[in-house]
Amino acid sequence: MTEPLVVIGGDAAGMSAASKTKRDDPDREVIVFEKGEWVSYGACGLPYYVKGDIESLEDLVSVPAESFVEERGIDLRTNHEVTSIDTEARTVTVAGPDGEFEQSYGDLLVATGARAVEPPFEGMGLDGVFTLHDMEMAASVRRALGLDAPGSRQEGDGPRGDASADGAPESVAIVGGGYIGIEMAEAFREHDLDVHVFEMLPHTLQPFGAEAAATVEEHLVEQGVDLHLDTAVDGFVGDERVEAVAVGDEEVPVDLVLVGVGVRPNVELAEAAGIETGPTGAIATDQYGRTNVDHVYAAGDVAEATNAVTGEPDHVPLALTANRAGRAIGATLGGEPTPVGEIVGTAVVKAFDLEVARAGLVDEAEAREAGFDPVSITIEAESRAHYYPGGSSIQVTMLGDRGTGRLLGASMVGREGVAKRIDTVATALHTELSVERVSMLDLSYAPPFSPVWDPVLTAAKVLA
Ligand code: FAD
Repeated sequence: MTEPLVVIGGDAAGMSAASKTKRDDPDREVIVFEKGEWVSYGACGLPYYVKGDIESLEDLVSVPAESFVEERGIDLRTNHEVTSIDTEARTVTVAGPDGEFEQSYGDLLVATGARAVEPPFEGMGLDGVFTLHDMEMAASVRRALGLDAPGSRQEGDGPRGDASADGAPESVAIVGGGYIGIEMAEAFREHDLDVHVFEMLPHTLQPFGAEAAATVEEHLVEQGVDLHLDTAVDGFVGDERVEAVAVGDEEVPVDLVLVGVGVRPNVELAEAAGIETGPTGAIATDQYGRTNVDHVYAAGDVAEATNAVTGEPDHVPLALTANRAGRAIGATLGGEPTPVGEIVGTAVVKAFDLEVARAGLVDEAEAREAGFDPVSITIEAESRAHYYPGGSSIQVTMLGDRGTGRLLGASMVGREGVAKRIDTVATALHTELSVERVSMLDLSYAPPFSPVWDPVLTAAKVLA
């Protein structure tokens, strides 16, 4: 009898792979070990749960745990942590509520995701200092704001923090101006907090390029955010509870801190078993998600993917990449070899009233480093026909390669029509279109949605 597929990690990558394997090969035994309570949840919605747009943590669950077991026939075990992998014996050691045991596998998928980076700041362990990476952390943040935490399965304050400060908090420091930091700035402003964002680089939203970031930063200030650019935080001050952020000789008083300085892939378990990581620090995989060890696959935030623009391994931990790779590995294991697909780093973020988007290489320095000879332009165009009411400006920065004419990437920012427009750019990048070909695409037009020349076409025309 074939040994089971064992999946480590029960979220986007893990459950996609488990479901697809079972669908394509119903006789295959599939066991998923998830160390937490939650499976198949949308961490992407957590800022909106804290903000109050999403009512309950339960609303973020795509497929309830019972459905995986009862309808899909998956042996799903929550509160089970895999503590080691033996690739010779093809077994994993699992710590569960009833103690430790070994489980053999025929194939293994490492889908352990990533975790929020916790910098070695002094005061990182103080009450009122949070990161945001999982469901219960989001519930803790809501409690710290003096709000209910609907759907939370944990009693008390959860992983970190303390809701029992005197009175509701009035101010918060967000350390890190990445997309989670910006989404959380909006969530905290919604609850009327004074929000400080500290970013050690000259701009927030670094992967979106300086031009888009500068526009976002003006908007953040309009929204009442106190922006501290080029400002490295040294640590947090307080006895038990955070009282201030230390920045050089200064102390900025705050009641709460949210640290959002990036994520790190959870590779330690795999590395200890001899599964190799690549240049980005995530697990190296081939086009089918296979690692260097036979019968061991990796997918999602823990794994690298190939960047279609540079041809190099890359690590862009986003949800579609995880779902897509998990599903492809499931199809491969179900008998139909299926590549996990390449990425172009397509990303969008809502920054209060703005939509900010990027795909490919959006920065000349980054493009030069990747071996291109970049040329770039930034244009402003209207989101609707000039005579149609309610339109607004869209700023597009587009990069091409001088030698080949190839489109390298773009970023965009505006009040409407940005988030989905970037997908045109992503499609062009996947198919390696030249800037000139992009300028000749037959894109849609009607006055309420676009000018005759869509902003993507205008940018490409100017750049070509
Ligand atoms: P994860 O979702 O991290 O799941 C890994 C699972 O493995 C976890 O449940 C963990 O408990 C479990 N695990 C780890 N180690 C073990 C072990 N040893 N044994 C058993 N189980 C283990 N992406 C977007 O594309 N768009 C967005 O707007 C967006 N917003 C986000 C906002 C926030 C606040 C966060 C935190 C993430 C956001 N993301 C977004 C990223 C997206 O959530 C991830 O890319 C996606 O969840 C990755 O799925 P995954 O299955 O690879 O890993």
